[in-house]
Amino acid sequence: MSKQDVTRSTFDQVMVPNYAPQAIIPVRGKGSRVWDQQGNEYIDFAGGIAVNALGHCHPRLVETLKQQADQLWHLSNVYTNEPALRLARQLTEKTFADRVFFCNSGAEANEAAFKLARKYGFDNFGPEKNEIISFTQSFHGRTLFTVTVGGQPKYREGFEPVPGGITHVPFNDLDALKAAISDRTCAVVMEPIQGEGGIIAADPAFARGVRELCDQHNALLVFDEIQTGVGRTGDLYAYMGLGVIPDVLTSAKALGGGFPIGAMLATAKAAESLGFGTHGSTYGGNPLACAVAETVLDIIDTPEVLQGVAQRRALFVAELEKINEKHGIFTEIRGPGLLIGAELVEAWHGQGGKFLAAAHEEGLMLLVAGPQVLRMTPSLIITEAEIRDGMQRLESAVAKVIAEADAA
Ligand SMILES: *Cc1c(COP(=O)(O)O)cnc(C)c1O
Repeated sequence: MSKQDVTRSTFDQVMVPNYAPQAIIPVRGKGSRVWDQQGNEYIDFAGGIAVNALGHCHPRLVETLKQQADQLWHLSNVYTNEPALRLARQLTEKTFADRVFFCNSGAEANEAAFKLARKYGFDNFGPEKNEIISFTQSFHGRTLFTVTVGGQPKYREGFEPVPGGITHVPFNDLDALKAAISDRTCAVVMEPIQGEGGIIAADPAFARGVRELCDQHNALLVFDEIQTGVGRTGDLYAYMGLGVIPDVLTSAKALGGGFPIGAMLATAKAAESLGFGTHGSTYGGNPLACAVAETVLDIIDTPEVLQGVAQRRALFVAELEKINEKHGIFTEIRGPGLLIGAELVEAWHGQGGKFLAAAHEEGLMLLVAGPQVLRMTPSLIITEAEIRDGMQRLESAVAKVIAEADAA
């Protein structure tokens, strides 16, 4: 069997059925355009779910990866390596953090953060200080610990028993947190903007209140910036725009620009609790991943890219509003920077998937965040022409979905 002989139906034969991928198989990408096996072209507004922050095959990322590939691939953490050290130095210089732990995905970064929170409570205040509070509708990954801290019960149903000592309170409800937090709380975990939960931003006053409550109760504030980090909101990390500084922050997705990497950033005080031998990852700090992430940060943490996010956002919103004037399908367009959610009007609730499928047919890659929010997390350097082209395709898709519904 040659490499070309795989098709979408191969998926059903050889893969675990936990995903339901689209019918096409993309084979090549450049910037914000992607081509499938048949040579059909797509504009990419999905960005690999907020991962391809510099589009596909950015020349500088390709060059970095190729250079590192000729140099050194893997060592394990029995040795440290130059790309990991340089990346950690860059992250500590650019953020509140003093220390970094590397891993390979978002869930692993959160797993490290939650384990750190437990250990920090244990080391500094004793075994009773083990409770973690997070928010309903939050998403923190798919390991057993992270689905349990996550606020969406559907992701843990059937996987019980799950770890204990975890409480969920409504997002943006400071009184609810006040009622739940105590001296047994070791950490409060939040996304500055809930991503999978429907693009819901934390109210700045709420975020400040969370910080104060954590301080009052000696609990760590953990920001999950796996979706919001690395320029997505127009700040390098969303906490910078929010003006609330966490003790621990997790980063992944865009950090590798498409090469798997995760990172947990922490203050020196918190980091002490992950002493020698307490945690680890074989691939964590892999030279290939760290070299690519270094270049990702070099490119994204520049005024040119970060300020460009606001300009591109303005065009996205203007174009979405035009579509809405014509078709009246959105109640609201929300989310900061290029983390854009367009909530469907009630008549279309639960039918986000239809728009996704239609967009696909028109040559546009799109996401949903829950069943009633269309989500766009494109490249931070998507061009104006690509945005306009993609929006034309979205308009055609919306018109098609409406026409089909009218005909039915
Ligand atoms: C995607 C995501 C995760 C999980 O990251 P993985 O790399 O899929 O493990 C965790 N938290 C948030 C906020 C995310 O958006």
